[in-house]
Amino acid sequence: MVRVGIDIGGSSIKIGVIEDTNGEVLSKEAIPFIYGNIKENCSNIKSSIDKLLSANNLTLKDVYVIGLGVPGVLDKNKEIIHNAYNLGFNNINIKKEFENIFPNTKISIVNDADAAAICEYYFGIFKGKSSAVLLTIGTGLGAGVILSNKLFCGSKNNGIEIGHMKIDAKGDIRCTCGSLGCAEIYTSAKSLDDKMKNLYKQTGDKIILDTAGGEMENINAKTAMDLASKNYEPAVKMVDEWINYLSSAIVNICLFYDPEVIGLGGGIVASKDYFLPKLIEKVKSQLIIKDEYEIKIAKYGNDAGFIGAAFACDM
Ligand SMILES: [Zn+2]
Repeated sequence: MVRVGIDIGGSSIKIGVIEDTNGEVLSKEAIPFIYGNIKENCSNIKSSIDKLLSANNLTLKDVYVIGLGVPGVLDKNKEIIHNAYNLGFNNINIKKEFENIFPNTKISIVNDADAAAICEYYFGIFKGKSSAVLLTIGTGLGAGVILSNKLFCGSKNNGIEIGHMKIDAKGDIRCTCGSLGCAEIYTSAKSLDDKMKNLYKQTGDKIILDTAGGEMENINAKTAMDLASKNYEPAVKMVDEWINYLSSAIVNICLFYDPEVIGLGGGIVASKDYFLPKLIEKVKSQLIIKDEYEIKIAKYGNDAGFIGAAFACDM
C-alpha cells in the first residue's frame, strides 16, 4: 500500500505518494494554490494525484489514506476549516470536499504544524522519543506538540497556539491575532525580515544590499544571519535579540510540557551554524535542570508537511 500526503500552503500545494511501511517518498510535485477557490484546488489536486500514482503504476485502490495538512483552525472533528486567512478559506467543510472527489478513499485532515511534528516523530529527529515539540519558524511561529506518544491538540482538539504565548508583558507591537506581546512578533523569521529591511531603509548601508544579492526584496532573515556571522554589529544585535526571545519561548515550552526534544524547522534553520550554538547556550542558562532538553534541527524540510499529513491518522 501507499499513502498520499498533501500540504496546502498559501503559495503552493505539495503532494506526495509515500510508501506505507517506511515513509519513503515515491514521487512528489508542487502545484500552484488558487486563493479562496476550494473546487478548483480540489480538481487540480485530483489530477496531480492521478498523475503521481500512474507514474508508479498505482491506482487509488492502492492508497490506504489521503492525508491533508492545512494551515488554520480545524473543528473538533477535523473536518471544517476556520480562519485560514492565507488560503481565503473560512468555515469550509474540507473533508466533505475531498470525500466527494475521492468517495472510496479514507480522508484524514490535520493542522500543518502538527503534520510536520508527526513526520519527525515517525521518521526524523523525534523517532524513539515519546514527548517532543516542533517549532516551525516562518511567517509566524507554529508548533506541533507530541506528549506521551500522542499528538496533543488541547481540549478543543484544534491545536496549541504557541506563537501567541505572551513573552513580553510590556510589548506594544500588535500581533496578527490582535493581542500584544506574542512570541511570534519577536521570534518569527518575518520579524527578522522586517527589521532587516527597515535597517536598510534607515541606513542605506550598501553591505546589506550586497549581502542580499543586490535586490531590496531579497533582504530578509538570512541577510541578518549572514551579516551577523560576518560580525556586522547591527545584525549581531538584531539576531541576538531574536535569540533572546526565542530562548524565552523555548524555556517556557520546556517548563510547560517537559519534552525530550525541541525541534526547529522553517527556512531559517539553514543558518543554524550561526544561531544554534548561541540559542542552546541561552536556553540552558535559563533552565533549572541544564542538560535535560535537546534542541535539534528538523530532519525533514519542505516534505515534512505532506509526509506527516499522510501518517496523522495513525496518531
Ligand atoms: Zn498573537
